[in-house]
Amino acid sequence: MSNAPIIGHYINGQMHDASERFSDVFNPATGAVQARVALAELKTVDEAVAAAQAAFPAWADQSSLRRARVMFKFKELLDQHHDELAEIICREHGKVFSDAKGEVVRGIEIVEFACGAPTLLKSDYSDNIGGGIDNWNLRQPLGVCAGVTPFNFPVMVPLWMIPMALVTGNCFILKPSERDPSASLLMARLLKQAGLPDGVFNVVQGDKVAVDALLQHKGIEAISFVGSTPIAEYIHQQGTAHGKRVQALGGAKNHMIVMPDADLDQAADALIGAAYGSAGERCMAISVAVVVGDVGQKLIDKLLPRIDALKVGNGMNADSDMGPLVTAVHKAKVEGYIDQGVKEGAKLIVDGRNFKVPGAENGFFVGATLFDDVTPEMTIYKEEIFGPVLGIVHVPDFAAAVELINAHEFGNGVSCFTSDGGIARAFARNIKVGMVGINVPIPVPMAWHSFGGWKRSLFGDHHAYGEEGLRFYSRYKSVMQRWPDSIAKGAEFSMPTAK
Ligand code: NAD
Repeated sequence: MSNAPIIGHYINGQMHDASERFSDVFNPATGAVQARVALAELKTVDEAVAAAQAAFPAWADQSSLRRARVMFKFKELLDQHHDELAEIICREHGKVFSDAKGEVVRGIEIVEFACGAPTLLKSDYSDNIGGGIDNWNLRQPLGVCAGVTPFNFPVMVPLWMIPMALVTGNCFILKPSERDPSASLLMARLLKQAGLPDGVFNVVQGDKVAVDALLQHKGIEAISFVGSTPIAEYIHQQGTAHGKRVQALGGAKNHMIVMPDADLDQAADALIGAAYGSAGERCMAISVAVVVGDVGQKLIDKLLPRIDALKVGNGMNADSDMGPLVTAVHKAKVEGYIDQGVKEGAKLIVDGRNFKVPGAENGFFVGATLFDDVTPEMTIYKEEIFGPVLGIVHVPDFAAAVELINAHEFGNGVSCFTSDGGIARAFARNIKVGMVGINVPIPVPMAWHSFGGWKRSLFGDHHAYGEEGLRFYSRYKSVMQRWPDSIAKGAEFSMPTAK
């Protein structure tokens, strides 16, 4: 479809759509190509880095209060354009409008947190550590930082990075997902309108070629990545090999334990939302229910009518609970996992394959799918499916549930439904997972906490946003100072100690 509009780059405050390669952007609800996104070559990445490097000295030299004022204005503009952003998300990602609005809210919360930059960057000061010397700390910007983001949160995940990088005085280059690239350009326009100087924030559209150019570029100091585990591991390995600071958040397989003392209606409601919301395309989606003791059949009896009542359709329809998957390729991959589950002996109770929405037969829909009798050796247990597929694993007791989860290679999110305080406490203390919910199915930390998993769900030392984000995007410096009247005469040859 050659006359489809082109989605380009944003460099030095200007749109820029020159490119040699393009990729189709679909409307997942209809299956139609709605635009083509430019894919950057090395030259475009070089231009973006040069623009950011030129903007860096002046931006780094701004007071933190002036940088925070840009964020205040940006937040106001995001509020004004809330529906527009949510519509863009719906159109390119496919999730339902109310969910897209929620995504924008969770992104705005990071901007609100970043507005506190003057306080966040306020440092410690020790008066007179000895001999008339005072000691204090500074947190200084790194330089030009880059972010590479996934398709499933085209507004929220970039906003985990952008406000934190900018208020700490860095310049930033975003490489959004090529599957839903438009929201990044609206955010770029809003940042400019908020008073951000040209060159401080840039968007480079692209694929592996652009990412590799960022990873290898001498002008980039740090890379934040969010996406699948194989790519996260590659980014961490390549980025650190090229001397960069890297945080790379990867994939997930999130479990929910349902204890015999749990309220099963609450647990079933939680599972339906957490497994099938956003068609399972969330890194915090629950894809495994771990049922303890005799809970299994009772829970299935609660889940079946709820699955039956799910409304699957175009995300822009007010009554849809669940939209399509992002592309035909991804739909085929998810259906392939369902085939594999059947082949490996799991009991398919609800089959979402070959699901058709009347009037949208070419949309990339997969219906809600439920497997019982899933075991840890099965591919559908081991691997991230990233679709509306929930598997049930039976265990005899709580200890076996914890052991199962701790043995999984991923450790992003986890949840336990129980009414026993002792179980809840043991769960929170012993589970080897980064984000833990107790009677909370999707435990996404608030903006002033930090987001990140354990094990092969995160490569690097820092979680995203919150104080961890502040540390990632700033370099720590410790200053000691004294004045000539407190300096004793003569050289000292022993290790300085406080006297
Ligand atoms: P993806 O790994 O395919 O792509 C992520 C980014 O990497 C995109 O910008 C893409 O262009 C780029 N990329 C893809 N292939 C690459 C390659 N070979 N070399 C360099 N760059 C490459 O992920 P996705 O399909 O867009 O997103 C879904 C995945 O993201 C899931 O695994 C999900 O769990 C994960 N995710 C994790 C979190 C988290 O916080 N841990 C949050 C959201 C999504």
